[in-house]
Amino acid sequence: MKDLNRRSFLKKVGTGALTATALQGCTPENIKKASKVIGEMTYRTHPTRGDKVSLLGYGCMRWPLLEKPAADGNVIDQEMVNELIDYAMDHGVNYYDTSPVYIQGWSEKSTGIALKRHPRDKYYIATKLSNFSNYSRENSLAMYYKSFKDLQTDYIDYYLLHSIGGGGMKAFNDRYVNNGILDFLLEEREAGRIRNLGFSFHGAVEVYDEVLAMHDKVNWDFVQIQLNYVDWKHASGNNVNADYLYGELQKKNIPSIIMEPLLGGRLSGLPEHLVRKLKEKEPEQSVASWAFRFAGSPEGVLTVLSGMTYMEHLQDNLKTYSPLMTLSDDEKDFLEETAQLMLKYPTIPCNDCQYCMPCPYGLDIAGILLHYNRCINDGNIPKSSQDENYKKARQAFLVGYDRSIPKLRQASYCTGCDKCNPLCPQGIDIPKELHMIDDFVEMLKQEKAF
Ligand code: SF4
Ligand code: SF4
Repeated sequence: MKDLNRRSFLKKVGTGALTATALQGCTPENIKKASKVIGEMTYRTHPTRGDKVSLLGYGCMRWPLLEKPAADGNVIDQEMVNELIDYAMDHGVNYYDTSPVYIQGWSEKSTGIALKRHPRDKYYIATKLSNFSNYSRENSLAMYYKSFKDLQTDYIDYYLLHSIGGGGMKAFNDRYVNNGILDFLLEEREAGRIRNLGFSFHGAVEVYDEVLAMHDKVNWDFVQIQLNYVDWKHASGNNVNADYLYGELQKKNIPSIIMEPLLGGRLSGLPEHLVRKLKEKEPEQSVASWAFRFAGSPEGVLTVLSGMTYMEHLQDNLKTYSPLMTLSDDEKDFLEETAQLMLKYPTIPCNDCQYCMPCPYGLDIAGILLHYNRCINDGNIPKSSQDENYKKARQAFLVGYDRSIPKLRQASYCTGCDKCNPLCPQGIDIPKELHMIDDFVEMLKQEKAF
């Protein structure tokens, strides 16, 4: 204990374990006990390839950041990434999902450094061809080869065509077919440099059906879909209901990899009355654990990705999947009721993926939308000046807005240039929502009734 400073102690143990140990006295034995409250990780086996994959997969798009970038420009706190990955490995997590575009392009490098310290046959690396703005063959090939270099590997276990669907079949054909890249990737799989080839999907059902129909020719090894207890039957924006996406994969015996199990954090930050409802049913379980149990319960799910920035999140998810307690039919009904109640709160379906960034005018798009959502969940969006908590809600909204978003990055600076809209996988009409929020802010400032 005395060799650990406070920061590394917090990083190693996590605040969840600390809370548990605080009451019992902070001895090394108690810390060990707190981190051993979990059993064996649940694994799923790839139906055709035989890979044994941990049900919890590490999404590497939300690594902890440094206060100031390092000398090489890397913005990620490598020391903390190493500790999180070591802890995840120790507790059975063997799937790590990154992309050349995550965290301003630094995720692959940091993930590669941390993984390289472990035997290569102990984990699976997933990364993507994230050629969103330049579809040329040269650019796509350069991106592909850079992934190998940054990840310090000579093969990639799971390689994805990133976020297909947006822009319809035309964009799909331009990104992968007309430039010969799909043929190239099939040859790379043949040569063993790609072990499994698949795609992640956000978009119109017609694109999904058409790309899936290519299975006879391409033999997709897996597909990454958005699945959670709201999207199962009530997908919003341009997303497709997850029960359809999953069902189609099952018909073809293609395993599903799950993204957005928490619907961009909205299922862990539920409104207070829904939190109470979940806690009444399972007082010991976190709110997030319900969403993870839902996402992990279908048998055709190979792994569920979670972007765990803090040790506390990692420990909570490990607890949920070590082992998974599959949801009963009653529990599924209960979550469907919760989803319906949640839908009464019209939050904006932003999951903070940051694909719309940077905005040429400097707006913090995700920050603004997430602040609005938080205020909806906390009941701080007054409908009229007659609302009984109008004064408190108005102050909470305005003060929180100024604190979390610098003035020059607020919604009032949106010019409506529309550069962001085609990049949003959730199909949000970003300038429209920003203008709505700006009007709302102006009304609050003028203390007008809404
Ligand atoms: S529409 Fe608004 S938010 Fe989007 S890129 Fe243009 S200025 Fe930025
Ligand atoms: S607005 Fe869309 S693209 Fe931007 S962070 Fe939110 S979900 Fe991602």
